[in-house]
Amino acid sequence: MLLTITYTGENASDLGYLLFKNPNRPQTFELNHGKAYVFYPEISAERTTAALLLDINPIDLARGKEGATSGGLFEYVNDRPYVSSSFMSTAISRVYGTAMTGRADAHQALSDSPLELSATITMMPCRGEQGKLNSVFEPLGYDVKYETFVSDENFPQWGESKYVNLTISGKVRLRDLLKHIYVLIPVFDRHKHYWVGADEVDKLLRIGEDWLPNHPERTYITGRYLNRRKSLVSIAFERLTETDTTSSDILSETEEKEAVKNLNTQRLNSVIATLKNCGAKKIIDLGCGEGRLIKQLVKDRQFTQITGVDVSHVALKRANERLKLERASESMLERVNLFQGSLTYKDARFNGFDAACVIEVIEHLDIPRLVAFERMLFEFAKPPVVVLTTPNREYNTNYANLHEDDVRHSDHRFEWTRAEFQNWANKTADKFGYKVKFSDIGEASEIHGAPTQMGVFTLCV
Ligand code: SAH
Repeated sequence: MLLTITYTGENASDLGYLLFKNPNRPQTFELNHGKAYVFYPEISAERTTAALLLDINPIDLARGKEGATSGGLFEYVNDRPYVSSSFMSTAISRVYGTAMTGRADAHQALSDSPLELSATITMMPCRGEQGKLNSVFEPLGYDVKYETFVSDENFPQWGESKYVNLTISGKVRLRDLLKHIYVLIPVFDRHKHYWVGADEVDKLLRIGEDWLPNHPERTYITGRYLNRRKSLVSIAFERLTETDTTSSDILSETEEKEAVKNLNTQRLNSVIATLKNCGAKKIIDLGCGEGRLIKQLVKDRQFTQITGVDVSHVALKRANERLKLERASESMLERVNLFQGSLTYKDARFNGFDAACVIEVIEHLDIPRLVAFERMLFEFAKPPVVVLTTPNREYNTNYANLHEDDVRHSDHRFEWTRAEFQNWANKTADKFGYKVKFSDIGEASEIHGAPTQMGVFTLCV
């Protein structure tokens, strides 16, 4: 990850004095989690550029040093070494700490003056929020440009990458430019940044003192910088605005757990209500997991045949235990049936049901496998009704403690916004002769919608 700062003006090579880094001598700095290098790719009297290159060691991250994450391969294989994240902020304060204070000894006058500066931050994570780059940087006096990329040229259907190369330019003091970047990189990088503690509030208010209190996006910046920790955000707001405004959408950790539990119950209730309404008797639960839905369906005599399918043997074993099938009566065993199968292969055992449920499953499928899933379900099994739910990614911003990379579960291959889900569902319905209706599950926030989105497909006759 790379940050370059360019000064255009008279005696541009004086940038070296302001940064306290000799333009003719590349330097290396040891950090807790890797190395930082400072060098000057261009030096002239008119234009000088200083580069700060960060080389993060993912093994350090994984081995309990600063920034260690919790479990799994993600610790070793992740985007951290390649993107501009909070580690870049740490490096800025370590390497350009004096410049951030504005002290410049013999060059104090230059340091105190606004200069023609521009900064380029490469590979800055900024998922689908590019408009925010303008609303956050422009009020600080910058002209904003950014370059976007496709995720993978071989898979255009994966859409745009969440990373941008951002260039901001303006007439600002160097210390202000550094402070803006220091605070704003972690604001855009929604990956949990690890060092958020109570002292971060002090740090934010100190570094943001001259520009944050009147910034039109101060709510957004503060909430994001503090990683949406409700208690810290409230403290910061009280001190920032000297009123007790709190950001109402943000949940504390306990509230979040409770909300997830309630959401699971609400989801089951919505699915069951839909199945009852359409009069379905024979139900297949595709990707049944541990059998939570089946356990509720069993209680209702309307449902005469209940089948659960999952690819995971472990999940099926748990479902078997939850439903106590080992000790079940003949009639229960006739009514309830579990088997192992995959949702991406045509399977005659999926035929003949009145309704199929696909609850929080599609986000576990690799996007290129969705086509096979669509055909298996809508072309071959072809049940009259399909009830399908998936997370609404827009809502994630309300969760403080998301798993890696901002999806709700580490096995989620994607999470869709409401527009993305509806677009997929409408197209699929059209293609296979279904109609689809959408509804929200869980408490909706005005801006981000509800946590879960449901599509109910009915076969046109
Ligand atoms: N529907 C359940 C479980 C959701 S978790 C509930 O709402 O509680 C997703 C489930 O989908 C997991 O149990 C996983 O094993 C299953 N799954 C993922 N990919 C699958 C596939 N290709 N075929 C069948 N099941 C799959």
